[in-house]
Amino acid sequence: MKHLESREMETELFKITDENRNRPDALAALKKAGRILRDGGLVAFPTETVYGLGGDALNPESSRKIYAAKGRPSDNPLIVHICRWEDLAPIVREIPETARKLGAAFWPGPLTMILEKSDKVPKETTGGLSTVAVRMPSDRTALSLIREAGGYVAAPSANASGRPSPTLAKHVKEDLSGKIEMILDGGQACIGLESTIVDLTEAVPTILRPGYITKEMLSGILGEVETDRAILPEGSDAPPKAPGMKYRHYAPKAELTIIAGDEAAVVKRINELVQKAEGKGLRSGVIATDATAGSYGTALVKSAGDRAKEEEAARELYRILREFDGENVDVIYSEAFEENGFGQAVMNRLLKAAGHRMEYVR
Ligand code: AMP
Ligand code: MG
Repeated sequence: MKHLESREMETELFKITDENRNRPDALAALKKAGRILRDGGLVAFPTETVYGLGGDALNPESSRKIYAAKGRPSDNPLIVHICRWEDLAPIVREIPETARKLGAAFWPGPLTMILEKSDKVPKETTGGLSTVAVRMPSDRTALSLIREAGGYVAAPSANASGRPSPTLAKHVKEDLSGKIEMILDGGQACIGLESTIVDLTEAVPTILRPGYITKEMLSGILGEVETDRAILPEGSDAPPKAPGMKYRHYAPKAELTIIAGDEAAVVKRINELVQKAEGKGLRSGVIATDATAGSYGTALVKSAGDRAKEEEAARELYRILREFDGENVDVIYSEAFEENGFGQAVMNRLLKAAGHRMEYVR
């Protein structure tokens, strides 16, 4: 009887905080996690963006396991995480001046660079591409784990494919418990949205996925920077250059619609929609902000924080979408957020979760 592949394993959970980080049990847990990765196993770990599902980036078998655990299509490349600048050169063909400048400005941090790969990186890790995505995260647990693992950790977000990315260890547990060897719990991810991806293999550096590092921040260092048309509102039919951006992503179970416009008009319209849904026996959820959370009568309301602070919405968005999944709402209405700066990343993820359903009111 060979049912070994499908048999679930025990997933060990260990919490690492700034208080226990240097204590023997935490150091031992990090060593153990590093050993698991070196031996070809999988460990989920915190980063400042979202939780990552790590495997040895230079071991094709580890990358295959990552795709299997997530249920992710294997043409969707993984990001290789490093912990020291010197570790970049061996995995790329060359380090362009643009990468040096961005590395000096934003690493360690929430920025992923696309570069031509060297032969050291297996095609399994890059989804068959000749380029590789590389990031040096700033989270201390992530950096320690990468060092313990030997320097190169391939890690997509640690969610089941199609579900919102995990911003808490319990989200990882929900999706991957029994499928991976270990989860390191580092508390809530402080940014809450995936890294900015910038392609440096093009004549003009191109943003493939918006994130905390904004276009303005990149062009402050590099000068001219473009945004892949596929992630702009008018280009939603264009094929994206980051293969992962084409998949339905970040999706809650309930149908989500975004309502944009003046605050008072948005509140009025969402209330109408909630009543309509109730008339059909459907249960509504609303994604509001602190100022409007009290305005939605009988719906199940969750606030994404202060409207003026897009970093609060970024931190809470995936948690809110996951909570709604557990609360059996049938439809979700969300207020829209400003698309300036980091707000562009928030709206990019919200639009994907909504399958681009958005209504403008005035
Ligand atoms: P995740 O790891 O879940 O944040 O997803 C990684 C994202 O990076 C996906 O959207 C990938 O398509 C994208 N990506 C990774 N490697 C490359 C690459 N070589 N070229 C373009 N996009 C990439
Ligand atoms: Mg992902």
